[in-house]
Amino acid sequence: MDRPAPLETLLGVPRLLSTERSLEEGLAATTDAAMLLLPCDHASLRTFDDERRFLLSSARSGLGQGHRPSSFRRGEGVVGIVADTGRAALVADARTDPRFVARPDAGFEVRSLIAVPLFAAGNVVGVLSVSHTGADVFGARDRDLAQLLANCTAPAIETARLARLAVTDELTRAFNYRYHHSRLAEEVGRARRYGDAFSVLMMDLDHFKLVNDRYGHQVGDEVLRGFVERVRDEVREPDVVIRRGGEEFALLMPATGEKEAAQVAERIRAHVAATPIATSEGDVPLTVSIGVATWVANESGSELEGRADEALYRAKAAGRDRVETALR
Ligand code: GH3
Ligand code: MG
Ligand code: MG
Repeated sequence: MDRPAPLETLLGVPRLLSTERSLEEGLAATTDAAMLLLPCDHASLRTFDDERRFLLSSARSGLGQGHRPSSFRRGEGVVGIVADTGRAALVADARTDPRFVARPDAGFEVRSLIAVPLFAAGNVVGVLSVSHTGADVFGARDRDLAQLLANCTAPAIETARLARLAVTDELTRAFNYRYHHSRLAEEVGRARRYGDAFSVLMMDLDHFKLVNDRYGHQVGDEVLRGFVERVRDEVREPDVVIRRGGEEFALLMPATGEKEAAQVAERIRAHVAATPIATSEGDVPLTVSIGVATWVANESGSELEGRADEALYRAKAAGRDRVETALR
């Protein structure tokens, strides 16, 4: 493949990022640039919260599309080490490098690897990694180019990262209530202007108070996290998972009609009920009740939510572990 000259790519990136809007778009522009800049077949970029306890968002280009990025543990694997030390890493052959931790579910093999930190205000806020399925592909110059790319994208990514942190629920990493209303209004506006379908699910965990009473609040927190993971397993990329508060969640589903929304709700319900949530105190069985509503012409966001809440109320009244669809 003919790649543009490195300087051309590096010079173009900050301008490109100044017009990108979401964190995901900024990350994706960076991994796309990495593919142009370096002889790699995969590039990924992970951003973290300030304490690097959790992966906030990520993007990938090249091999491995369609696979969820492997989660991140402090100090674990090359990415974890780079996040902790703030120093770039160059791996000639992952098969023999003790720092490398293989992820069989990544969808592709990594043999050559570069990982470099993104810094903001003295903290590592992200790690850019590029890899190749062949060994001995990268040299020190490639590592330096990757670091230059990380350096010139870090300011724009940091702005988007801070904005994202402000609307992220720390416990579950779902969006929080601050994001809920602005995004709901945005989606209703889109439905109104373009006639797109738009559906919402309201989800409330069943008898969650009993989970806390029986296993303790800490385990309750783990169950809340496990629930959000189950939801993520069942939704598409544009769907927005929100923690409304406590053990109540919403799912905003752009471009989704009533039938499809009810199917997703049923998949979530079944996935939660099918297997208990694994926690530090053992498996905790869980069920969820869900109300589904699809936007109808001239309806406001709060009217739409009101109908979904009413459906959720009926699901509870009818015995829980159920999906009910809103009346029109
Ligand atoms: P229902 O099936 O009717 O929804 O019953 P419920 O017990 O789920 O509902 P209720 O509203 O009575 O109780 C909700 C519980 O959720 C009470 C509260 O302690 C718990 N909860 C709310 N937020 C959190 C949290 O952040 N962590 C934990 N562990 N528990 C929480
Ligand atoms: Mg509740
Ligand atoms: Mg509840």
